[in-house]
Amino acid sequence: MAQEDVFKKIVSHCKEYGFVFPSSDIYDGLGAVYDYGQNGVELKNNIKQYWWKSMVLLHENIVGLDSAIFMHPTVWKASGHVDAFNDPLIDNRDSKKRYRADVLIEDQIAKYDEKIDKEVAKARKRFGDSFDEAQYRATSPRVLETIAKRDALHERYAQAMNDMNLEELKQIILDEEIACPISGTRNWTDVRQFNLMFKTEVGSTADGASTIYLRPETAQGIFVNYLNVQKTGRMKLPFGIAQIGKAFRNEIVARQFIFRMREFEQMEMQFFVKPGTELDWFKKWKQTRLAWHQALGFGNENYRFHDHEKLAHYANAASDIEFRMPFGFKEVEGIHSRTNFDLSQHAKYSGRKIEYFDPETNERYTPYVIETSIGVDRMFLSVMCHSYCEEQLPNGDSRVVLRLPAALAPTKLAIMPLVRKDGLPECARKIMDDLKFHFNCAYDEKDSIGKRYRRQDAVGTPFCITVDHDTLTDGCVTLRDRDTMEQTRVPVADLCSLLEDKVSITSLLKKL
Ligand code: ATP
Repeated sequence: MAQEDVFKKIVSHCKEYGFVFPSSDIYDGLGAVYDYGQNGVELKNNIKQYWWKSMVLLHENIVGLDSAIFMHPTVWKASGHVDAFNDPLIDNRDSKKRYRADVLIEDQIAKYDEKIDKEVAKARKRFGDSFDEAQYRATSPRVLETIAKRDALHERYAQAMNDMNLEELKQIILDEEIACPISGTRNWTDVRQFNLMFKTEVGSTADGASTIYLRPETAQGIFVNYLNVQKTGRMKLPFGIAQIGKAFRNEIVARQFIFRMREFEQMEMQFFVKPGTELDWFKKWKQTRLAWHQALGFGNENYRFHDHEKLAHYANAASDIEFRMPFGFKEVEGIHSRTNFDLSQHAKYSGRKIEYFDPETNERYTPYVIETSIGVDRMFLSVMCHSYCEEQLPNGDSRVVLRLPAALAPTKLAIMPLVRKDGLPECARKIMDDLKFHFNCAYDEKDSIGKRYRRQDAVGTPFCITVDHDTLTDGCVTLRDRDTMEQTRVPVADLCSLLEDKVSITSLLKKL
């Protein structure tokens, strides 16, 4: 099936099974804003818990924070967002569609990469076992020509972005003959800057309301609380502050479902370190964060780092963790070495001394910061994309199964009486009443067992138990595994410890 079709199926599965709904659905939705349904909110909470515990529980020197969305407007002046949190936008005059100029060019670079990969794949087929990929890439004239084109474009683009040279960005789009995917034409407007922050007013207008912003990242809430947390927690460097919360960006191009939203959620951790040690910590955090993703078991080949050549104004190193989505490798998380930029800026604008006194060296300095920043929604999407599976069964049936990591699954266990009589529902309810304190359980007695299993497969429930007539005498139930569909007989008394091992966030954390 084409990857595009797979993605469409995932989007409709999310809606049909209560994971993600368009916002204000009965009013036909609101662009790039989504609501999480009864299963979505559980999955999302589990992702957040996995992240939070991996940060705050597993690191003695990381503490949490929950700062407000509204902040003093000077915060965004100091951070550079008022002046520089812009995207270059361009319109196609024929389709009237708006695009990010940088994204159009990055897509073009990706097309060159795809062309190279296709050439390599063709050659591999031709040469079979004797194929030497490295040699082919280094010598094939066709591949070399495409690499040269891609590199030249890349260099030109990086320079234009560094200088924020809007005319040059447009010229690149024209020279590369990039056409609008909707109209197919190259009738482009000039490139303009567009600030992504949402504004609103605080206070009544009669009193002279002032403009404030909805935060475009959670990080600044951490920076402005650095002194509060360091002092009250008597924190010693290196230490981190972790926060999960909503962020808002008026994205120009709102496509790809929950990949790019206008209201989304971030999980950010700012790690404060001694100046000069930041690049070692940057490397360490890259590995720690990659290991967090890999522990989910989605296949190490589906992740890669993308080191930034164009660094944000505050960074001295930056890398993204990209995941293979149905629409290509895409950023899920950013790891940035932000220097002492933010703390120094806030010191300057607030007039406060924001420093650390190092008791070991008797020095005062402004700490440097390594940031790890991951979008909950993008993480949710990567989990969904990897887990969605349509399977043909040996008996000719087919099923849709969400192979969610058990620790993230919304419901861990479905409890089903075989029939709705003979005391089986009562027995099943009793088991549920015991287990519901430990796991999220569902009770289902409607339809045939086969239908009930399919319903649970579609929402990713890792285990089902069936209560039958024998249960009443032998105290055992049939435990059915979602992925293998194997069924085993298990004493009710063993269920809790047996499942705890398989479905708890703790079991996932132990893999780290
Ligand atoms: P992009 O280049 O895709 O716009 P970014 O580099 O601006 O992303 P960051 O500012 O580094 O993103 O934000 C950190 C993380 O927050 C991203 O890795 C992503 O997971 C998430 N994120 C950023 N913007 C959005 C958005 N509009 N919708 C959903 N998640 C987002």
